[in-house]
Amino acid sequence: MQRRGFLAAGMAGAGAMAFGSVWSQASPPNFGMATPANPGFRSVKVGSLEVFALQDGISRRPLGEEFVTNAPLDQVKALLASQALPTDYVDIPYTPFLVVDGGTRYLIDTGFADNGPAGTGRLRTHLAAAGFKPEDIQHVIISHYHGDHINGLRLRDGSLAFPNAKVHVSAPEHAFWMDDARMEAAPPAARGGFMAARRVFGSLPRERLVPFEPGAEVAPGIRSVAAFGHTPGMSAFTVRSQGQSFTYVADVTNVPSLFARNPDWSVTFDMNADQARQTRRRIFDMLAKEKSLAGGFHFPFPAFGTIEAAGNGFAFKPLAEG
Ligand SMILES: [Zn+2]
Repeated sequence: MQRRGFLAAGMAGAGAMAFGSVWSQASPPNFGMATPANPGFRSVKVGSLEVFALQDGISRRPLGEEFVTNAPLDQVKALLASQALPTDYVDIPYTPFLVVDGGTRYLIDTGFADNGPAGTGRLRTHLAAAGFKPEDIQHVIISHYHGDHINGLRLRDGSLAFPNAKVHVSAPEHAFWMDDARMEAAPPAARGGFMAARRVFGSLPRERLVPFEPGAEVAPGIRSVAAFGHTPGMSAFTVRSQGQSFTYVADVTNVPSLFARNPDWSVTFDMNADQARQTRRRIFDMLAKEKSLAGGFHFPFPAFGTIEAAGNGFAFKPLAEG
């Protein structure tokens, strides 16, 4: 059962996220604040490359009927309870990744910078803790245009957060969000996502914006993987070196405790729920078979781990500490 229509749900979600309102309204003090990861970054070797997970923050969102659009709330709560997780709220982390290839640095997705809700905007601090300055980033690679993934490209004052970086974007994703006619036709509540895309990309010099077709190699050793459904042109990325690989799934699932365990459930932010469901099963099947390292933007810290088949779905096994 779909409680909400295709674009309405996803775009309202995206629009609200662009300005943080859904999240700030959604964090009443009675649930407290989520505990940020400490030290806030984790690195793993993938062949000759080093990959960092860098937490931008966490939002604590009260769990309501709307979050999983096609399952009753009591079933959603039961699945959380079975994993010894709280059932009144969901902690949603935001985790960009950094791929370091010698002197070349690729940041994948950006978090919020200073445009987001309380408890976010820590990427810069965690980047510094890992030994990097924003000026060191030569490439930013964007999975999709929801606000938590793109808003950190520009500070609130309009300046570029990574002043030396080229920005690699999925061509169909860019085409969708930058289409003025589509923005005009969207209901007012859904315009925020389009406006966020314009704020971030609108005045980016042409030579700084590098579109790729999902499926293509974005950089040496970094291949994009079409992962449409959550948004029209979302891309995942597989990083390979010396026979090892790491796949960043972006928002193929939101929190894995719900949407890996039950891949047929849809989060309210999935813009095309059916397509997102097929993509989720295809990519998680692949990761479970390969037993390769995986990471996701909304995975619990360290956000790195493996995907294993479990029941009718999958389980995310985080890397051990250390
Ligand atoms: Zn997201």
